[in-house]
Amino acid sequence: MASLLELKEIFRNADAVCFDVDSTVIKEEGIDELAKFCGVGDAVAEMTRRAMGGSVTFKAALTARLGLIRPSWEQVQKLISEHPPQLTPGIRELVSRLHQRGIQVFLISGGFQSIVEHVALQVNIPTTNVFANRLKFYFNGEYAGFDETQPTAESGGKGKVISHLKEQFHFKKVVMIGDGATDMEACPPADCFIGFGGNVIRKQVKEKAKWYITHFDELLKELEER
Ligand SMILES: [Mg+2]
Repeated sequence: MASLLELKEIFRNADAVCFDVDSTVIKEEGIDELAKFCGVGDAVAEMTRRAMGGSVTFKAALTARLGLIRPSWEQVQKLISEHPPQLTPGIRELVSRLHQRGIQVFLISGGFQSIVEHVALQVNIPTTNVFANRLKFYFNGEYAGFDETQPTAESGGKGKVISHLKEQFHFKKVVMIGDGATDMEACPPADCFIGFGGNVIRKQVKEKAKWYITHFDELLKELEER
């Protein structure tokens, strides 16, 4: 097991850095915001709470919540324009610094492609570097389910995406940054996990992560020291 010093070394010399999105790159949870916007915020929040402690798979929990929200194409577009996701302080600077160093940056999210792409554009990450779930709609814009074949629709999906990136781009050192247990579980295959508690602190992650931060400035400093 790598020590904190070794993890910092990996971060400084990474080939790629992957960020979780909900409660990491943005302040909120995308699906909760979508639920609120569609008028079923409380019911979905209750479902999330129940799912967290239980043995429900990620896909089953997502199916149940989306079945309740049933977002139309128009509602998703309206959410993005009227209630855009709020960026976490320092994320823009951190991504820009990583790019300057020639490090590739990816967003890996259990949230939805259209919303995450909007976030990516704001932090100058190419949309080809976004891995997220895809909502499906009928011709008239009504909700038609989601693409169940995406790796991010499964439990353990973030790790699968990282393995795929390592294979495709021959990355040696990949860093995963996020607030949640599913982010921590993506390491390995990620070589370093950085727990992020700037928006919400997940007790289990804070206790288990060797490297835990509450502001992105801590990572900016890490990149400036040498
Ligand atoms: Mg998250």
